Amino acid sequence: METLIKPGADPQTLLKNVPRSGSTMLMYIDGKWAEASDGASRTLLDPATGAPIASVAEGTRDDAKRAIAAARTAFDVGPWSTMTAADRARLLFRVADKIEEYGRELQYIDTLNNGKPLRETEYDVADAAGCFRYYAGLATKPHGQTFDVPGPSQSFTVREPIGVCGQIVPWNYPLLMAVWKLAPALAAGNTCILKPSELTPLSALRLATIFEELEFPAGAVNIVTGAGPVVGAELAENHGVDKIAFTGGTKTGRSIMSAAVGNLKKVTLELGGKSPNVVFADADFDTAVDYALFGIYANAGQVCSAGSRLVVQDSIADKFVAAVVERAKKIRVGNGFDPKTEMGPIISRGQLERVEGYLAAGKDEGARLVCGGERLGGALAGGNFIAPTVFDGTNRDMRIVREEIFGPVLVVQRFKDEDDAVSTANDTIYGLAGAVFTQDVAKAHRVIRRLRAGITWINTYHPTYNEAPWGGYKQSGIGRELGTYGYDAYTEVKQINVNLDVAPSGWFEG
Ligand code: NAD
Repeated sequence: METLIKPGADPQTLLKNVPRSGSTMLMYIDGKWAEASDGASRTLLDPATGAPIASVAEGTRDDAKRAIAAARTAFDVGPWSTMTAADRARLLFRVADKIEEYGRELQYIDTLNNGKPLRETEYDVADAAGCFRYYAGLATKPHGQTFDVPGPSQSFTVREPIGVCGQIVPWNYPLLMAVWKLAPALAAGNTCILKPSELTPLSALRLATIFEELEFPAGAVNIVTGAGPVVGAELAENHGVDKIAFTGGTKTGRSIMSAAVGNLKKVTLELGGKSPNVVFADADFDTAVDYALFGIYANAGQVCSAGSRLVVQDSIADKFVAAVVERAKKIRVGNGFDPKTEMGPIISRGQLERVEGYLAAGKDEGARLVCGGERLGGALAGGNFIAPTVFDGTNRDMRIVREEIFGPVLVVQRFKDEDDAVSTANDTIYGLAGAVFTQDVAKAHRVIRRLRAGITWINTYHPTYNEAPWGGYKQSGIGRELGTYGYDAYTEVKQINVNLDVAPSGWFEG
C-alpha cells in the first residue's frame, strides 16, 4: 500500500474524500449524500487526545425510514436484486480492490477515529479487502441441493436473498465490522442499511464513497449515521426491514431481538463474551505467555472474543502470572499514530469510566491487583488510556470474573485438573470464544470439545478467518457470520418441486 498520509496528519486532510455540508460530514442514502432531516450533527472526539476530529450528520428515524424505502425499491423493483450473481461478484471484487487502493487512508481513518494502533488497523484493512473478495467469489458458487424424492418428481432447493437488511455494528473494528455485514449480504443479493457506531462512523462513510465511485445502484447500500436508540431502533422495528444483523453488547442484543418481533424479521446477533484462555502446565510456556498477552491486550481488550479470563493450572500459575505481568508492564501504550505504540486508548470517556468502575470493583471484592489498575496520566492524560491490568486471587463470584469489561483487564483463575479447567472455563453466561494451551494433542482436543463456545483455538489466540464461521453459544449470540455460514445467514431457502409426469393426478374422481 502506498503511503498517502503522514502520521498525525490533520483530520481535515485525512477525511477530505467524504462529502460534507459546511463542516458536517454527510451520510449516504439512496445513492446521495444527505444531512440529517433535522440538520443535527454530532462531534467526534479523538480517543487518544480528547480533541474534536469531525462533525457527522446525526441521523433521525425519518432518515432511517428514507434509507429503508430506498433499499426496499432497490430490492423489490431492482436493479440490485435482478442483477446476475456474476455481475454482483464483479462489483464486489472491485470493492476489494478499492479498499486496497485506499488502504492507507482507511487505515489512518480508523486509527484516528477508534485510536487503535496502526499495526492493528493495517490488518483490519487487509481483512476487509479479503472479506469482500471471499464473498465475491462465493456469490457464483453452487448453493442449492437436489433431492431424490419418491414418484416422478424432482425436488431441489435454491438460496434467495432475504430482502432488505438492517445492519448495526459497534466501534471496536469500525471498518471490519461494517464489511463483515455488507459483503455477504450484498453477495447474496440483499440490499442494506448499515448503521455504524455513533462513535466511529468515519471509515464506513469512506467505504460509501467506494460504492458511489463504482456506481452501485441507488439504494443497494445505505449508510445511516446516528444513535442506536434512534436509527438502530428504527431498523430493528420497521416492518420494511426483512432481516436485522447486529453486533454489539448482549443487553442491546436483547432489545434488538424484542424490537424485531413485530414482523418476525430474521435476526442474527453477535454479542459479548468473557472467554477463557486455558493454560495447562505442559504448555509451551513462552508461546502461552505470548498469546495470553495478545488475547487480552490486543485492541486494548476491546474485542468481543478477548481472552479475558486466564485459566491456568495451579502448578505453574505463580511463574506464569509473573511472566505475563513482566511483559504486560513493558507494553507500549500511546497514540495509535506512533508506529511504536502497541496498545491504544479506550474508545470514549464513558467507556473509560466503565472500565475504571471494574477496576474499583475488583479491588473492593478482594481480588489481588498485580499489574496496572489505573488510568494513565502525564502525556496521555488528555486521552482515555488504561494501563494493562492483571487481577490474581479471584473467585468465580466476582463481577470482574463474571462480567464483560471490554478493556485491558485480565483476570486469573487457577485450576487443579482437566475437569476443574473445563468447569471453570464454562462457568459463564457467555460462549463466544476460548483457547487451550497444551502440548498433549489428545488433551487439547478433549478439552476444546468440552468448551461451550463457538470460536476456539489450540495453542494460539485470536486468529480469525473470513473462510470460517464466527459466532457464539449461549448469550454470546444467535447465528454465524463469515464463511459459507455467513452467506447462508443472508438467504432464504426455497424448495422447488417439478412434476416429471405431467398428467392429472386423478385424486378426485368426479
Ligand atoms: P452496543 O451494544 O452499545 O452498540 C452496538 C451498536 O448498537 C451501535 O451501533 C449502537 O449505536 C447500536 N445500538 C445501541 N442501542 C441500540 C438500540 N436500542 N437499538 C438499536 N441499536 C442500538 O455495543 P458497543 O459498546 O458499541 O460494542 C461493544 C460490544 O460489542 C461488546 O459487548 C462486544 O463484546 C460486542 N461485540 C461483539 C462482537 C461479536 O462478533 N460477537 C464483535 C464486536 C463487538
